[in-house]
Amino acid sequence: MIPFVDLKAQYVGIKDEVNAAIQGVLESCQFTLGSEVAAFEEEFSAYCQGQYGIGVNTGTSALHLALLAAGIGPGDEVITVPFTFVATVAAIHYTGAKPVFVDIDPRTFTMDVKAIESAITSRTKAIVPVHLYGHPADMDPILDIARQHGLTVIEDACQAHGSEYKGRRVGSLGDMGCFSFYPGKNLGAYGEGGMVVTNNAEYTRTIRMLRDWGAEQKYQHVLKGYNFRLEGIQGAVLRVKLRHLNAWTEARREIASYYNELLSGSGVPTPEAMSYARHVYHIYAIRTRKRSEWQQALQAKGIQTGIHYPIPVHLLPAYADLGYVKGDFPHAEQAAEEVLSLPMFAELSRAECQEVCEAVTTLAEQAAVEYAA
Ligand SMILES: *Cc1c(COP(=O)(O)O)cnc(C)c1O
Repeated sequence: MIPFVDLKAQYVGIKDEVNAAIQGVLESCQFTLGSEVAAFEEEFSAYCQGQYGIGVNTGTSALHLALLAAGIGPGDEVITVPFTFVATVAAIHYTGAKPVFVDIDPRTFTMDVKAIESAITSRTKAIVPVHLYGHPADMDPILDIARQHGLTVIEDACQAHGSEYKGRRVGSLGDMGCFSFYPGKNLGAYGEGGMVVTNNAEYTRTIRMLRDWGAEQKYQHVLKGYNFRLEGIQGAVLRVKLRHLNAWTEARREIASYYNELLSGSGVPTPEAMSYARHVYHIYAIRTRKRSEWQQALQAKGIQTGIHYPIPVHLLPAYADLGYVKGDFPHAEQAAEEVLSLPMFAELSRAECQEVCEAVTTLAEQAAVEYAA
């Protein structure tokens, strides 16, 4: 069996380091925030080429608090994409603001920068581009438009740890960048975790308060805050894992380029990386019009795949109240019907890549025969 991800294989490689780090937290009893979290905030924000990092309990909370720190609330509109994990949109909803969608560029699955201007109204306050699959959104035009209209840019970098745009790390390109450390992400905790990265001291101060009941000093509640603290054990685990992230990212990139090579000539559309991008392949998604058939056939051969994501957010029942209908975002809708994520994790072997690509190529050949008939 070739799994879609294999968290156990990664743990085996770092077991002693991780176990010692967890032991250290048990001894120090700094179970929530504390010195390991503070050290991880410094190390990860530096990794992102940002000045400040604020550790929180999830990536969703990172987005939620970044939006609140930017002053976003009821009556405001926030522009994002419908082809993302639902959390991007949920975080906007939590603030009371209205999510407004623009379509994606089908080459990169990220925000179509040409669609932004026409979505801006007098209520628009922010743009949330998503660096989906680990490929950066086209940030320069987004930042230009934001500057012209006085909008805040909050990057959803939850799938893009270490991804680069024109040689600069994502997460520190906009006003704030939000990361998730959900176990399956490129940098994953042994539990939940998230972080806001920023160069803005005022946002940092606000988010530090909001994550811990709105208090700067104990029981002095200045803001209506939350319990969104990052746990000490997660901070310690993430510090260990951060030291391996470059090697894991390189492994992902090598697997992606091997997949590209093995699938070239098969006719199967493989992921594109723009010249400005350093793609970190959180997800390696091919496209096929016969997706459910292919997914079942691969499963039958012991190859697990995933779909990220089968329904764009504007067509999810939970967000029907936004009033969008099928046909509003054709590129997002087509992507949602066609994408199929192949196994992707640093420990995946070349033999396993070959097995996956042989199976995919066979399916593509069968499909070609059927289409010709
Ligand atoms: C994972 C993810 C989130 C949410 O992160 P959690 O830590 O699960 O709350 C938000 N946006 C995107 C694009 C994600 O992939």
